[in-house]
Amino acid sequence: MSYNTYGRQRPASSSRSTGRSFGGRPSGGRSSGGSGRAKFAKQYINPSRFIQAAKPAAEVVEYVPTHHFADFEYNQLLKDNIASKGYVTPSPIQDQTIPYGLAGKDIVGIANTGTGKTAAFALPTLHRLMEDKNSKALIMAPTRELAQQIEDELRSIAKGSGLSSAMLIGGSPMGPQLRDLRYNPNVVIGTPGRIKDHIERGTLNLSGFNIITLDEVDRMLDMGFIADIRFILDKLATPRQSFFFSATMEPKIEELIRTFTNDPIVISVKTGVTSDSVEQNVVEYGGTHEKIERLHEILNSEEVGKTLIFDETQRSVERLSDELLARGFKVNAIHGGKTQGQRQRALKQFRDNQINILVATDVAARGIDIVDITHVINYTTPQTYDDYVHRIGRAGRAGRTGSALTFVGR
Ligand code: AMP
Repeated sequence: MSYNTYGRQRPASSSRSTGRSFGGRPSGGRSSGGSGRAKFAKQYINPSRFIQAAKPAAEVVEYVPTHHFADFEYNQLLKDNIASKGYVTPSPIQDQTIPYGLAGKDIVGIANTGTGKTAAFALPTLHRLMEDKNSKALIMAPTRELAQQIEDELRSIAKGSGLSSAMLIGGSPMGPQLRDLRYNPNVVIGTPGRIKDHIERGTLNLSGFNIITLDEVDRMLDMGFIADIRFILDKLATPRQSFFFSATMEPKIEELIRTFTNDPIVISVKTGVTSDSVEQNVVEYGGTHEKIERLHEILNSEEVGKTLIFDETQRSVERLSDELLARGFKVNAIHGGKTQGQRQRALKQFRDNQINILVATDVAARGIDIVDITHVINYTTPQTYDDYVHRIGRAGRAGRTGSALTFVGR
């Protein structure tokens, strides 16, 4: 098995297009997407904080790396593959993680999506797998999409290495996964629910896995995977090397780090780039009627493409979605009162451009990772400024400039 054949000729679309869009178990143990009800007193946020011009990319990127990829001491084949991918200068998280990763240290990386964190853990991991054929790596991600992205990156960096992998994601048939596991892969990539299923069926034994990556830990926790993660981490080999990545740090994550890592190096490259790349403005309105009319106008304007609208409660989300539908817009809604299937259908319609407007509550929108969202509209202001940053981070992903509009009463 090699990374050339490692894709096992799986049709490019097979693991993306079937079944659920979230990996793991269909519903058990996971947040239902939130009640959508505003339970706490709202933080007062000065409307001036909702106004900011998007900074051009050149202004945002100011990090001066201390290495080139060629400077790191790692396997020549990986070096060649990195060069042929066109990676010359490491991103900040790569620059700081790779030397420690190659030295076998545990790493905690505080980094947003799109910072290059995949190569930051992939390179030291693949180097070690090539140096020590008895090593094995487990990589866990919250969604099948992210797991797939990680596999693509690993495959291109490890091309020609002879290493093999298995993808264990929910919503995909068991057959190919069981077959891949029988090949005794060097790398297992997957979502927590399905990985746990395999452990319980006796089809995956983690006792020889001595390298672990948890990617987007905060999102995995949001999705209710904490118990599964603990169950899985307990099954791994010791000693082992750990890479934990998260966009945010909170007590539950800190506890996971304390329990499951050994004297980690903490690297933070959080820069607020997500909101820096989003053009932010307010929309003033007088009363309810003017509010919906202003929204109608905005949605009709030409530069508005794929739009995510936030509202406060399940009922208000539903009402707004019905109103926009009645006005002829292509719209659907997601909130905690809908079934997992309904929410995934709405997300799929949004992703596949069957609709271009999605109305959501904060919690239901948490897992959304759709790259071509042009506008985020806060039809009601968020509970906290942190929620605001989370909301608008949905636009302007992957180097695109997005827009955020926040409705404020006059
Ligand atoms: P990630 O955050 O790992 O998903 O990476 C975001 C994007 O940046 C991916 O498309 C990578 O292929 C690309 N990328 C990662 N590291 C580098 C680098 N050092 N130079 C150029 N592109 C990179």
